[in-house]
Formats: sequence, structure tokens, C-alpha cells
Amino acid sequence: MQTPDWQKALAGGFSRVADLLEYLQIDPSAVSDHTRANAQFPLRVPREFASLMTKGDPRDPLLLQILPTASEMAQATGFSIDPVGDSQAKQVPGVLQKYHGRILVIATGACAIHCRYCFRRHYPYAGATAGERQWSEILDYLQAHPEIDEVILSGGDPLMASDRKLERWLQRLASLPQVKRLRIHTRLPVVLPQRITPELLAMLEKCTLDTLMVIHVNHPNELSPAVAGALRAVRAAGATLLNQSVLLRGINDSCDTLVRLSTRLFEIGVMPYYLHLLDRVEGAAHFELDEAASRRLQRQLLSKLPGYLMPRMVRETAGIPYKRPI
Ligand SMILES: *Cc1c(COP(=O)(O)O)cnc(C)c1O
Ligand code: SF4
Repeated sequence: MQTPDWQKALAGGFSRVADLLEYLQIDPSAVSDHTRANAQFPLRVPREFASLMTKGDPRDPLLLQILPTASEMAQATGFSIDPVGDSQAKQVPGVLQKYHGRILVIATGACAIHCRYCFRRHYPYAGATAGERQWSEILDYLQAHPEIDEVILSGGDPLMASDRKLERWLQRLASLPQVKRLRIHTRLPVVLPQRITPELLAMLEKCTLDTLMVIHVNHPNELSPAVAGALRAVRAAGATLLNQSVLLRGINDSCDTLVRLSTRLFEIGVMPYYLHLLDRVEGAAHFELDEAASRRLQRQLLSKLPGYLMPRMVRETAGIPYKRPI
């Protein structure tokens, strides 16, 4: 079978810090030593995403999301390997249930981009992609819990799976009458818009479940015309589009940036959903904005945005049965 274009683009992404810095015309002395951080969680970024960064700017808000730095090796109290209690929430391999009526399926462990603040950067993704046996266990779990009417495909990034695999997953989920809604949590349309293939669009259009796609954008600079085009096509295929962001110090912790993000998302058919306070994962302490500053920012945003463009500011806390509003 021919390799799809998006997989070729993925393979051509940056995986060496030196190559990325050279492409961005940034002198290595302008950034901190990345060696140990990179060994722990290696750089990965598609060229499309890198092309949206400003050349020569070591503080570019897209670059800061993905560049390994020495700050990640600093010890910080309260930051751990499993900050949101994923290991306690695992029901069967690859399934997390924390909330009523919906499960989250770790469909694949892979991502197209490695975000330095990712709360799953230490998650023990054993199998790369959920296989046949695992899917039959997932279906058994659903049938044993008839109150579950929504399935969230997450990961990693579920759109890293091939269209063929996705189609089989969708068919199997749609075969259970209890499942009403399918949610896809993905960053791929943003970091690699070619992933929105005609085959994927046809699949979404055909799907009998109510489909939501929850994308992940932190800064308005991520929303290029190519990304906007891909997302408009997803919407035209009938999916509801929502966005979640993570509040990141030095990247999107300004009222102006977040107002522009919400406004631009709406222009391309995406509704703001969550603005997450950082999950306190080891290696990400330097991205955290404290809760008092977060609340100040929330008040500023509320006074600038219409209600429907205001993302819900939440913090995920292990053991609490919902994402806690701030
Ligand atoms: C975040 C999350 C969800 C989704 O929560 P919503 O509030 O419905 O968006 C579901 N399951 C798990 C395990 C989660 O971590
Ligand atoms: S799971 Fe999401 S936040 Fe984490 S590295 Fe992958 S794309 Fe980034």
C-alpha cells in the first residue's frame, strides 16, 4: 500500500534540536542546554508547525511549547510523574474512566509533536496502538456498563492511526446501540493539517454517531490558513469542533493572546471549551502560572469576551469526578 502524504510529512519532521535551531536561524548559545531533557522526552515537531515560528526568536510561543530545555530537569515540590491519577483510573488496558457516562480510550501512544508540558510525558504507554484483543475488551467493558454513552478516543493522538484502523474502531463503536457520541481528542489537524484526508472526512460524514473533535491549540499563531481549511472541512463533514488549551507561562498567559485565540477559533468554526491550569507533571514546573495570577487573568478575559467565547478555566484533580472549575 502507498504511504499517505501525511505519514511522509510526519517522517520528515524535526527530531534533532540542532536541525530545528539551524532552520529557525537561532544560535544554540541563545537557548539552554537541552541534552538531558531531550534524552528523557525527545524533540518531535512537524515542519508545518515549525514553519509558523518566527525565525531568529528564541522566545517564540510555538517554539517554547516544544523545545527541550534545562528547566525541565529542575526538581519542584508537588510535581509528579502521574499528576492526574491516570494509573488509578485504568479499568481495562487502554481504558480510563474517571467520570460518569464516558470513557477515555488510549487508542495509540504516539503523537506527531512532543509538547514539553504534556501530562502524559511519563505515561507508560505499553502497546503502541490498541490491538484487536484490546478492542474486544473495551467493547466488553462498555457492555458491562450500559450507562456509558460516550467514547473518547485519546492517546497519544488517535489520528496517528491509519484511516483503515480508525474506520474499524468507528464501526465497532457504532455497532453498540448504547454509544451515542464519539469524541476524538487530537492535536493532529493543528500540527499536521494534511492528516485531514478525504478518506477521513468521508468516514466522519458516514459515521452514525454524533461526533465531536476536540483539538488542542494554545496560541493564535498555530492557526494558519492551512489549519483553518482542514478544520472547516471537518466541520462540513458534520463534526462539532471544540478547543482545549493549557495555560502556559510565557506562552499564552496574556489577556490579549487568549482573546485573539478565542476570536480566531470562532472564525474557523471552533468553540473554546477548556483552558486547563497546568497539570503538575514532573519537568513542567517552569510553565506554571500560579492560581492567583490565573484568576486575575480569568477576570480580565471575562470582561473582554462574550460568554460563548470564554473557555472554562479548570483544574484536573485526582479523585474528583469532574474537571474542577476555577
Ligand atoms: C478529561 C477527561 C474526560 C473528558 O472530560 P469532559 O469534562 O467530558 O471533557 C473523560 N475521561 C477522562 C479520563 C478524562 O481525563
Ligand atoms: S498527548 Fe497532546 S499534549 Fe501530550 S505530547 Fe501528545 S499532542 Fe502534545
